[in-house]
Amino acid sequence: MAGVAEYFGSMVFDDKVMKERLSEDVYAALKRTMQDGRSLNLSVANAVASAMKDWAVELGATHYTHWFQPMTGITAEKHDSFITPAEGGRVIMEFSGKELVRGEPDASSFPSGGLRATFEARGYTAWDATSYAFIKDGVLCIPTAFCSYAGDALDQKTPLLRSMEAINRQALRVLKLFGNEDVTSVKTTVGPEQEYFLVDKDVFNQRKDLLYTGRTLFGAKPPKGQEMEDHYFGVLKPRVQAFMKDLDEELWKLGVLAKTEHNEAAPAQHELAPIFATANIAADHNQLTMEIMQRLAKQHNLVCLLHEKPFKGVNGSGKHNNWSISTNTGVNLLEPGETPYENAQFLLFLCAVLKAVDDYQDLLRASVASAGNDHRLGAYEAPPAVVSIFLGSELTDILEAIERGEAYGAKEKELLRVGVHTLPKFPKDTTDRNRTSPFAFTGNKFEFRMLGSSASVSYPNTVLNTAVAEELKQFADELGNASDFEVALHDLIQRVIKEHKRIIFNGNGYDDKWLAEAEKRGLLNLKTTPDALPYLVKDKNVALFTEHKVFTERELHSRYEILMESYCKLINIEGRTMVDMAMKDILPAVSEYSQTLCNTLLAKKAVCESIDNTYEKEMIEKVSKLSADAYKYAKDLEKVLNGAAKIEDVTALGVYYKDKVLTLMAKLREKADALENIVSADYWCFPTYGDLLFGV
Ligand code: ADP
Ligand code: MG
Repeated sequence: MAGVAEYFGSMVFDDKVMKERLSEDVYAALKRTMQDGRSLNLSVANAVASAMKDWAVELGATHYTHWFQPMTGITAEKHDSFITPAEGGRVIMEFSGKELVRGEPDASSFPSGGLRATFEARGYTAWDATSYAFIKDGVLCIPTAFCSYAGDALDQKTPLLRSMEAINRQALRVLKLFGNEDVTSVKTTVGPEQEYFLVDKDVFNQRKDLLYTGRTLFGAKPPKGQEMEDHYFGVLKPRVQAFMKDLDEELWKLGVLAKTEHNEAAPAQHELAPIFATANIAADHNQLTMEIMQRLAKQHNLVCLLHEKPFKGVNGSGKHNNWSISTNTGVNLLEPGETPYENAQFLLFLCAVLKAVDDYQDLLRASVASAGNDHRLGAYEAPPAVVSIFLGSELTDILEAIERGEAYGAKEKELLRVGVHTLPKFPKDTTDRNRTSPFAFTGNKFEFRMLGSSASVSYPNTVLNTAVAEELKQFADELGNASDFEVALHDLIQRVIKEHKRIIFNGNGYDDKWLAEAEKRGLLNLKTTPDALPYLVKDKNVALFTEHKVFTERELHSRYEILMESYCKLINIEGRTMVDMAMKDILPAVSEYSQTLCNTLLAKKAVCESIDNTYEKEMIEKVSKLSADAYKYAKDLEKVLNGAAKIEDVTALGVYYKDKVLTLMAKLREKADALENIVSADYWCFPTYGDLLFGV
């Protein structure tokens, strides 16, 4: 294989290919579209489509697809071939501009939360020209947004693009006030660090729970877990290494900037971090990364688990969403500057994030809510369900000095005035990584750490972009009307710090004392998905999204319904899988095992009445009691699952699954796991945690 520099991006219709293959005019028109979001006229689209098709066919592609991200959480594609009948019964390969920019998938079975009336079940897809087309498995993939005929967003990309527009609009207004006349666009950047597990495929295939739900619903703790901390950054096992090598190659060909791969805290857990990109591209790339991880793992006879909590008692997987804002002139707006003016601008953007995270903590929490992630947040391995910001002690001290109108530090004599004085230097947070904070400032970006490993990053970033856009709008309104910009700026920053400092917390987020403190501060603690999701449609949040044209009220209600429904469906599948495994696998295995014990006991008695049979007797009693309990809970669980059919309201249904179903699932599991611990390995019905976690 050629060097990485040569094959990197070789399957991407990127800027280099465009320059080579498009005429100057067409190239310039396409670039304008990509930069300013203008629409492509048909003659340009035809020229681009034709060049794209030639390029793809040369690389072996026969089909094309509009690649999109419906609300199912995975990407969708419908392949159409390029062939068109030609004279003499032959075919030619064709691809028109119309086919490039717009598709009409029959998408009636994608979740729409009632947005698509049945008489108009079709939706359409539209090319997101800012994200390059690429070839995957011989198919030319065109990244697209997916909407209903009435224009309602049915996907993850549409709202993300709208939110990027919103923050662009408002950030430009603020930047103008600081005299940045050369800045014409502002984009948010995202670098999502992806955690995952790898398990052996043969072992995986023997577990119905993994097959049906992606997580283990039963499983006793193995004698060795992650307590030795010998896995984190440890030497890679050969099979894992081979997988990662293939993964890098595959991702690099697709232009995904996979940068670091290493072992994570739990056995069999790993992480991949890319170099950051513009938010919508990062979202596409993360989606591709997850897809390719899962496909390549199978080629190595492995299975890649992206579930947030595949194993009880072992760390789950998340996604760290590194986020910042940059100008087209290359300035990272969350990077502290050198001059008083640059510093003031940095502080204002920092304050916008502070205020946004405080005002919309409910939405941020809801943006990461899912059945899988509920097992992680607040479980002493991931941030708590309470949203707070880590700033580090130096930056916090500076903000406090500004708030109180005092000098900063012992050496400074003057009061710290924003826009007049240079900020004292403070070290970037590189060593002091507070890993327990849900939202940490790490020197020149924020790291939102509450995301689950399987989720799309689009939606959390949509919330973040929109919330910050709203605060920037308020700031621009206030500062734009001020008679003295500097005085107004200082007052604004001081006021925001005063009013929103409750969201700053630099301590240990895993500490229970923090939860009590957070409650005193009036911060929300939305523990589960049914607690968090309803905030999506609260008045203040509907106002936010409609004001910035990111979601209509209809779209928000549809999303709420889709998310809550999928929570319920998922738990229903989990519950049914548990009943199935208990009735068909666990209880029969236990029964067979106790028969052996009984036979032994009877045989002993037959040999001699006085022979000691304590072991057999006690085990028979124990096993019988536990299996009677497990049997009862399995029957109860089935009844409760059937009872769900009577509930129509989706909110009530979510609460029902959380309170009734999950509770019984936990009870059944406890009994079954206790049985696993005492039943002979020869009789146990599926591979254990030990086999799964240490089997590769
Ligand atoms: P580390 O955590 O190893 O110190 P970094 O903090 O540089 O490394 O990066 C962690 C992640 O944050 C990477 O995915 C990186 O690309 C991303 N990142 C770095 N800078 C930015 C930025 N300005 N915007 C968004 N993501 C960023
Ligand atoms: Mg990090």
